[in-house]
Amino acid sequence: MQKTKYFTSLLVYCALLLPMKTFAGVGDIAQKTALYAQETYQDEMIESLRKLITFNTVAVEGLASPKNPAHQQFKAELAKQAKHLGLDFTDYGYVIVIGLGDSEQRVGMITHGDIQPFNPSKWAQSPLTLDQSSEPGKLIGRGTEDDKGPITNALYAMKSIKDLKIKLKKRIELYVYMAEESDWQPLREHIKQHSLPQVNITLDAEYPVVTAEKGYGTISMTFPKTKDTSKFSSSALSDSLYISEFTGGFFGSQIPEDAHARIENATPELLTKIKEIAKSHPSMHYNYQWQGTQLSISALGKSAHSSKPEYGINAISYLADLLTVNHWPNNTSGALVNFINEHLGTGLYGEKFGNIAYADEFMGPMSVQATVLKATENGIQLNINIRRPRGKTTKQLEHEISSTIAKWQQKNQVKLVDISNDINEPFVQTNAPQIGTLLEVFSFYTGIQDAKPISIGGGTNSRLFPNAVSFGPSMPNTAYTGHSEHEFITEEQFILNLKMYTAVLTELAM
Ligand SMILES: [Zn+2]
Repeated sequence: MQKTKYFTSLLVYCALLLPMKTFAGVGDIAQKTALYAQETYQDEMIESLRKLITFNTVAVEGLASPKNPAHQQFKAELAKQAKHLGLDFTDYGYVIVIGLGDSEQRVGMITHGDIQPFNPSKWAQSPLTLDQSSEPGKLIGRGTEDDKGPITNALYAMKSIKDLKIKLKKRIELYVYMAEESDWQPLREHIKQHSLPQVNITLDAEYPVVTAEKGYGTISMTFPKTKDTSKFSSSALSDSLYISEFTGGFFGSQIPEDAHARIENATPELLTKIKEIAKSHPSMHYNYQWQGTQLSISALGKSAHSSKPEYGINAISYLADLLTVNHWPNNTSGALVNFINEHLGTGLYGEKFGNIAYADEFMGPMSVQATVLKATENGIQLNINIRRPRGKTTKQLEHEISSTIAKWQQKNQVKLVDISNDINEPFVQTNAPQIGTLLEVFSFYTGIQDAKPISIGGGTNSRLFPNAVSFGPSMPNTAYTGHSEHEFITEEQFILNLKMYTAVLTELAM
């Protein structure tokens, strides 16, 4: 007890000294500029975001961004806003650079102007309008958090620095990348021909500072079409019971919230068993419909960014789990459901996928999630999104994946087609001089004292820029809403981001 008391008073004493020490990195000028930004521009910044949200800048497959009309209109609006704010604007096609100052030494902010697909029927108002009324205090719309909100924050941070005539040693550059967030090729091409800022912060993830990102990967395989379903042998419940349809998911980096199954020759007894399992899925909503002996089940879970499966409820996995009442005949949909139940289950981390599961102490576990089922000319393609930390080579992972798939095919006498893996390397930043400044600004404005660098599951463009780490826009331990069907940023967070970005830029560029 004595010892504890001694340490407690030591802690109190240290805490008294702490404020001066901890906040030493946030200078008066940075604080003043951030306050000016907040007092002067919070309303104008919302109007800027309102305009940027209206452009449907989803990346269209097969249509290059520079040729995409919505992307062109979005860039024209950005050019107009930059001009209005007195910032320079250069359009390199896939990459936009908005700048302030003219030094060789530069600080970069990295963002993207494309948005993820959306399903308008799931939104209270159009996802392409800034909805401030449905849930007071929230700015709801596609891109509010990912990544148009941060673009407007950055514009007004630069404008505030310009207004106050802060003498800059470094030029500030805002990068707006227009290709799909995970298609880095056009950005790589740009980098080959243009020099980049020496220090960079990416505004596309979370606070306090992200120094490691898991590698994004897709495992895909197709369950082939089968002609005659009646030939399948008997099952526990009925001679001709089989699944004639199993669909679900929307896009590869979203935890799916919708899935649908259709069962032929179903019985009320089967439905009773299904409903029994449904009781153990309290977060799911199921809808059952009979048409003769055909039973249709619609499943509603919760969408989330696939790098944060903990925040979603995967409708594909849970609907498959509901169907563990039977080992299904291996027609197209039946084989698919059997495979999902055997090797994915409702876990998040690949626990059932052979030996694939592993974790890194700092970066956390690999996540393994079915995200989208696509009908192709060869059958149904199952796409599994993985996010892998350091600790295993890509070769080892590929080997573990293919041996699991091979064993399953052998055991079930099913020949899968179009099997492929595409697995990116994880990224770990070991050398970024601005990390201390970022942590100090974050602690100062949030009051969170023990801020430390973190690792995330998502992949940003940080890895392509020198000395880059992510800084916001989302708070730690808060659900990230980008990529979900309920994307928003709170007004409070939006303003807080403006202050933190303004302070950080002032500190890094002065
Ligand atoms: Zn993003």
